[in-house]
Amino acid sequence: MINFQYSRAADVADAVRQLAAEPGAKFIAGGTNLIDLMKEDVERPARLIDISRLPLKTVEETADGGLRIGALVPNSDLAYHPKIAQHYPILASAILAGASAQLRNMASTGGNLLQRTRCHYFYDTVTPCNKREPGSGCSARNGLNRMHAILGASQQCVATHPSDMCVALAALDAKVHVTGRSGERAIALLDFHRLPGTTPQRDTNLGADEIVTAIGLPPRGFAKHYSYLKIRDRLSYAFALVSVAAALEFDGGAIKEARLALGGVAHKPWRDAKAEAMLRGRQATRDAFTRAADALLRDAKGLAHNAFKIELARRAIVRALTQAALGTPQSQSDKKIR
Ligand SMILES: Cc1cc2nc3c(=O)[nH]c(=O)nc-3n(C[C@H](O)[C@H](O)[C@H](O)COP(=O)(O)OP(=O)(O)OC[C@H]3O[C@@H](n4cnc5c(N)ncnc54)[C@H](O)[C@@H]3O)c2cc1C
Ligand code: SF4
Repeated sequence: MINFQYSRAADVADAVRQLAAEPGAKFIAGGTNLIDLMKEDVERPARLIDISRLPLKTVEETADGGLRIGALVPNSDLAYHPKIAQHYPILASAILAGASAQLRNMASTGGNLLQRTRCHYFYDTVTPCNKREPGSGCSARNGLNRMHAILGASQQCVATHPSDMCVALAALDAKVHVTGRSGERAIALLDFHRLPGTTPQRDTNLGADEIVTAIGLPPRGFAKHYSYLKIRDRLSYAFALVSVAAALEFDGGAIKEARLALGGVAHKPWRDAKAEAMLRGRQATRDAFTRAADALLRDAKGLAHNAFKIELARRAIVRALTQAALGTPQSQSDKKIR
């Protein structure tokens, strides 16, 4: 039995104060990831600060026509929220591709951002893992690495970020609103998660005294032409081998704006400005989509068991872009583009 303290935060300022006061304290929201990690002895927080009753459970319109999503909005409420379903269906689709209905009822928006990798060595405390125990080594690099990264990995860590929701948020140019002792700030979602480099123990750029309070969505929702395609071993209750959030906007017959984010391939949701730029001004053709996929994957590297992900990602990108272009987000792409 490992002892820990438990307290409730009265408000956001109190949550920040409690976190700063006790090194080793952690917030708990839905608990669907943190409690598992505690049971497996991966995380040993000295104190759990319960933030689940803080008033961060609303979805509100912002002055610029976007949305502000409270950090404690449950994943299921968010996916079925009328404004998300209507204006940001790519986000609803990504959330519903994750976990199970029961888990989505418990899981919070903030907790989803901060869930930890599903690398099995990270959970297995008898094996070396630089993320769990810096300097101990990486068991996955030369071990069972079928689920692991093909982009942005380092010698120290080849883990992937497991969230589906974050992949759609990356495509939408979302912002993460946080509060700490020195006040509030907003971090672009693409800068929120980190690549492993030499510090794989740090998943994000959230400060040690900061709490996530909200996610900001800009007005552009790509509701007409989008697709979230998740390729996994089972149709439900499995993490992505590769996932693709593809969103397009057209001007006449030409692509005016393109967004492409990948999940399951790196330590963070992966976007590539060059690949997206290659699509702007082009017609929606298989050739254009294949070129963008090749550009996005130009630096991809396979390990012993996951090299198949490179071709899988290439095909998934082309299919997701095709589905987005046709306005049939969940189809099997029976209809063909040129
Ligand atoms: C069996 C299973 C299958 C799953 N499958 C998928 C899947 O396919 N796709 C997918 O995307 N996810 C999947 N998940 C993960 C699930 O989405 C996450 O566990 C969930 O989103 C975490 O949210 P939570 O509120 O329960 O977080 P918690 O477990 O409460 O917290 C997780 C971490 O976030 C921190 N935290 C929480 N809220 C805040 C905040 N506001 N500010 C700062 N720190 C905070 C906590 O301190 C903790 O470190 C699965 C989980 C399980 C158990
Ligand atoms: S890939 Fe990362 S999380 Fe997995 S064993 Fe290596 S260091 Fe640990």
